[in-house]
Amino acid sequence: MVKFAKAGDQRFLQTLNRTLVLNTIHHFKTISRIDIAKKTKLSQSTVSNVVDALEKEGYIVEVGTGNSTKAGGRRPTLLTINAAGGYMATLAVVTEAFHITLQVCLFDLHLTMVDEQEIEVKEKGAELVETIKACVHSFLQKHADKNIIGLGFSMPTVLDRAGVVYRGHLLELEDYPFEEEMRKAFPSLFLVVEQEQHAAILGERAIGPAKDVNNLIYVTVGRGIGSSVIVNNELIRGEYGGAGEIGHMSINKYGPKCICGKKGCLRLYATELAFINKINEAAQNGFPLPPKIYNPVLDQCNIREVYNLAMEGDEFCREMLTSLLDDLSIGLSNLIYLINPKMIIIGGNLLFAKPFVLPYITDKLKEIMDSPTADIEIVGAALGNKSSVYGMASLILDKHFLKKELMFHSA
Ligand SMILES: [Zn+2]
Repeated sequence: MVKFAKAGDQRFLQTLNRTLVLNTIHHFKTISRIDIAKKTKLSQSTVSNVVDALEKEGYIVEVGTGNSTKAGGRRPTLLTINAAGGYMATLAVVTEAFHITLQVCLFDLHLTMVDEQEIEVKEKGAELVETIKACVHSFLQKHADKNIIGLGFSMPTVLDRAGVVYRGHLLELEDYPFEEEMRKAFPSLFLVVEQEQHAAILGERAIGPAKDVNNLIYVTVGRGIGSSVIVNNELIRGEYGGAGEIGHMSINKYGPKCICGKKGCLRLYATELAFINKINEAAQNGFPLPPKIYNPVLDQCNIREVYNLAMEGDEFCREMLTSLLDDLSIGLSNLIYLINPKMIIIGGNLLFAKPFVLPYITDKLKEIMDSPTADIEIVGAALGNKSSVYGMASLILDKHFLKKELMFHSA
């Protein structure tokens, strides 16, 4: 049952009617005009007018006929959202060990990815911003024949409410008005900017196994560690957008000093930083390291191989991975007591060792926590490294196309 959140003048009412009809079609996937009227309690003529307008704009199409009623009569025509009626373009800035990848994707209104490009770049700071603009301009040019309804950016930084980067050392962007710059570059498009981990949890919730989960934690572990939480169906951003920054949650007051000034932060133990430190230490002490993970001539580590060798049973790599997972589990248990989630989604490079990682964390949490608190589903991110681009597309769909903020759903 869908209700209005607020009422207003005639034009606002029309917007609400349109939103209500569109959301009803989206929710039921295929539905007849008469059933839309029944579900929304709008009059049949109002539904007809709204449907006609949406059909003319190309946002909905007819898809065959449904069953006739008990009383017989004509079988009703069914309507659905026209996948090709509009498109969302999204770009995710992804930091890798030695470079930055720009993932640029196009999604249709059914949230199907219809085009994707990955571009490796080395630029940082203001130069990176110019590269992002150029990249999006050429992508939009390529799809100039389509109705692009919005543009979304996922950033591996902390952003405030105005889209200003206020912690972005990996990109060398500090106090940078990223959203404002993008608005100037793409003034005619609806535009959203979101932090990577928030975008990722939205993507996983739109497509993945967390679809109907109301209390959820997403944790990504790789070069860094980030998390995002959905509590009672709402994404928690916090006052300054930094909610879920568990990397700086201290798990050891006697631990080494972190860049933030505190001691024993989780990021020092539960990220690939821990692998790099251990490999370097072993190399310095003359410990014979597997050649796949360390090249002494170039003094280079291959972190990807740590996951592979750990799964194959190499003692050194297995020990590094289990040590990371033990520490990560302590961080997760802290979050679990705070949020009380139904599910935790693990994303990032840790999934290179997914068959080992997920059962290990599940067992570890059972060991260190009370039951049933530990009785939580631990799953891998279904969208791999594409969670953020999907999340941005679903955000544009919800905010701009379905205007979900205008409505609320009650059981
Ligand atoms: Zn710290």
